[in-house]
Amino acid sequence: MYLKISKISDETASIRSFYLVNASAGTSLPEFSAGSHITVRVTETISRQYSLANTPGSSDHYLISVLREQEGRGGSQWIHENWKIGDTIEVEGPANNFRLDESAGKVILIAGGIGITP
Ligand SMILES: Cc1cc2nc3c(=O)[nH]c(=O)nc-3n(C[C@H](O)[C@H](O)[C@H](O)COP(=O)(O)OP(=O)(O)OC[C@H]3O[C@@H](n4cnc5c(N)ncnc54)[C@H](O)[C@@H]3O)c2cc1C
Repeated sequence: MYLKISKISDETASIRSFYLVNASAGTSLPEFSAGSHITVRVTETISRQYSLANTPGSSDHYLISVLREQEGRGGSQWIHENWKIGDTIEVEGPANNFRLDESAGKVILIAGGIGITP
């Protein structure tokens, strides 16, 4: 699907958040559960995954936060340098590799990466 960048906000010097809405105005987005991510097409040859950081169940926008990785292969740097409000990006998902088993008696959550996502 195609999403439009509606808002950008700098959380720190190296973490930038992007608010994504459906490129077809007024169309709601597929719902997602806690722990989900989307895969974004960064360039013709680069795709990257980003966790959805807004409240699970919301369908008006997706929120992702991207850490600028100076030592990486360039995906996050490209996003920081090129993504602008109004741009349309290609996205797959949402998908969830970390679905919470709500029948479990006890859950231990271990957070890593750039922070704790829902
Ligand atoms: C499910 C999921 C959710 C994610 N959520 C987020 C998120 O919310 N926010 C976020 O900022 N990122 C997230 N990521 C990571 C994101 O997809 C990108 O990997 C990240 O933005 C860096 O991309 P890059 O191209 O700049 O760097 P990459 O090339 O992906 O490099 C990332 C790191 O791996 C190292 N590296 C790369 N290749 C090798 C190698 N061959 N051997 C050893 N080390 C190597 C680099 O030095 C760098 O430190 C998520 C990843 C997954 C799988």
